[in-house]
Amino acid sequence: MSDVIVVGAGVAGLTAARELVAAGKEVLVLEARDRVGGRLLNERLPGSDEVVEVGGQWLGPGQDRALALTAELGLKTFPTYDRGDKVAEFGSKLARYSSRIPKISPLALVDIAQAQLRLDKDARQIPLDKPWEAPNAGELDKRTFADWLDRRTRTKTGRAFFQLVTEAVWAADPGDMSALWAQFYIHSGGGLDSLLNTSGGAQQDRVVGGTQMIATMMADALKDRVLTGMPVSEIRWDPQTGSEAGEVSASGTGPGVTVVAAGKEFRAGHVVVAVPPPLVSRIRFAPALPALRSQLLQRLPMGWTIKVNVVYDEPFWRAQGLSGQANSTSRPVGTVFDNTPPSGSPGVLVGFFEGRHAQTAARLSPADRHRLVLDNLAAYFGAEASNAVGYIERDWAAEEYTGGCYGAFATPMTLTRFGPELRRPVGHLHWAGTETATRWAGYIDGAIESGLRVTEEILAAMVR
Ligand SMILES: Cc1cc2nc3c(=O)[nH]c(=O)nc-3n(C[C@H](O)[C@H](O)[C@H](O)COP(=O)(O)OP(=O)(O)OC[C@H]3O[C@@H](n4cnc5c(N)ncnc54)[C@H](O)[C@@H]3O)c2cc1C
Repeated sequence: MSDVIVVGAGVAGLTAARELVAAGKEVLVLEARDRVGGRLLNERLPGSDEVVEVGGQWLGPGQDRALALTAELGLKTFPTYDRGDKVAEFGSKLARYSSRIPKISPLALVDIAQAQLRLDKDARQIPLDKPWEAPNAGELDKRTFADWLDRRTRTKTGRAFFQLVTEAVWAADPGDMSALWAQFYIHSGGGLDSLLNTSGGAQQDRVVGGTQMIATMMADALKDRVLTGMPVSEIRWDPQTGSEAGEVSASGTGPGVTVVAAGKEFRAGHVVVAVPPPLVSRIRFAPALPALRSQLLQRLPMGWTIKVNVVYDEPFWRAQGLSGQANSTSRPVGTVFDNTPPSGSPGVLVGFFEGRHAQTAARLSPADRHRLVLDNLAAYFGAEASNAVGYIERDWAAEEYTGGCYGAFATPMTLTRFGPELRRPVGHLHWAGTETATRWAGYIDGAIESGLRVTEEILAAMVR
C-alpha cells in the first residue's frame, strides 16, 4: 500500500510525486502511455541528433515555477529566434513588417488596441483563485468570448484579429468559450501581450534538449515509483473519508483507495488524478463521483491543434532577414515560428492548425494536409519553403490519452455554476493538471503549480 498513487505522469503528476517523495511519502505513479511527459513530447529531427517538441515547448517571463524547475534539473534555455521581419496577413494583404505593429489600417489598429486595453483591464478584475466571484461573473459567464468580442470590436479586421488570437492562445473558437474563462485565462497568463509575445512573452524561450526532458528527468529520479503502460480504468474510493462536498475529514491514512490499471490493483491512502479533465470521465469511479464534479467534467472540452514541424537543410528565411514568424487571419496554418535547434541546423519552421482549422485539416488526406502546409509556408516565406527535407505532424485530438490541446477550456455557465469543484478534493481523491491552476492555467507552469498544490493538500490532510 502506498501513501499516494498519482494517475498520470505529465508535469503535474510528476511534480506532485517528486514533492511527496521529498516529504518522505511512499508514492506510485501510474501512467497510461509507454512514456512520460503527457503533452510534452520530443521527436528527433530526421538525419540529425537534434530534437523538436511536437507538444508544449515555450517558456517565458513570469513562468517562475517552470523556469525554476528547469534550472533545478540543470536544463538550459535559449531564446526563440526573434530577429528580422515578420510576415502578417490580416485580411487579404500579405505584408512584411519590422516593428511590433503589423501593417493594417489605422482604423483597425485603433479598434484592436481599444479592445485589447479593455480586455486586459477587465481580466485584471477576475480573482484568479475564484473567477466565479468576480463582480460581473454572472454577466460574463453567460456570454461566449465571441459575443464579448463582437460588442467590443468595430472593424472586420479587428474581429478577424481576435479570432486568430483565440485560436493561437486556446486552439479553440471564441464562440465555444465562456467570456469569463477567457478573461480568467488572460489574467492567469499576465495579460494578452504576455500570452502573445515572443521576446517578453510566453514564446520567449526554449529548452535545450526539448521540454520533454523536464518530465523524463523527474521520472528518472523517481526510479521504479513510475510505472508506464498502466492506463487507470477504475478507482474505488470510500465516500466515508469525506463529506459529499468533498471535505477531507479522515486521519489521512484512512481506509484507502483502490486503483485498477492494466488488470492490476493498487492501494493507497490518497490518489492524485493528474489527467486532462475530459479523460477523468473515462475512468470508472466506484461509487460514482458526486454530481457536481460529474457535471463540471462534462463542461470542460479540450481545444484542438495539429502541430507541424517542417524541416529544411538550413533556416533559409534568416538570410532573407525574416524571423520565421508569420500570422494570417485567412490561411489555415495561421501561426508560424522559427523552431530551429540551438545549433542553427537543420532549419525548422513550426506551424499550427488551430481550432476550426484543425477540424478542416483533419478531414484532409495526410498528403493533402502536407501540401497545404507547404503552400502556406511558401506564401509566407517564398518558394524555397516548398523544398522541405522533413515533415513531423502531431494531431493531439487523436491522442487517446490527451484528447486535444493546448488545454481544456470552460464553456459558458461552467465556472459560475461548477467552478468551486475544480480543485475541491472528493474524499481522498485530489485533482491536479494544468487546467486546475490559478496562474498560467493551460501551460507547463500551471501544471507545476497544480502538482505543488495537491501535495500541500495531501500533506495537510495527513496530519489532520
Ligand atoms: C501542441 C502543444 C503545444 C503546447 N505549447 C505549450 C507551450 O509552448 N508552453 C507551455 O507552457 N505549454 C504548452 N502546451 C501545454 C502544456 O504542454 C500542458 O499545459 C502541460 O504539459 C500539461 O501537463 P499536465 O501534467 O497537466 O497534463 P498532461 O501532460 O496531459 O499529463 C497527463 C498524463 O496523464 C496520462 N493519462 C491520461 N489518462 C490516463 C489514465 N487513464 N491512466 C493513467 N494515465 C493517464 C497521460 O498519458 C499523460 O501522461 C502545449 C501543449 C500542446 C499539446
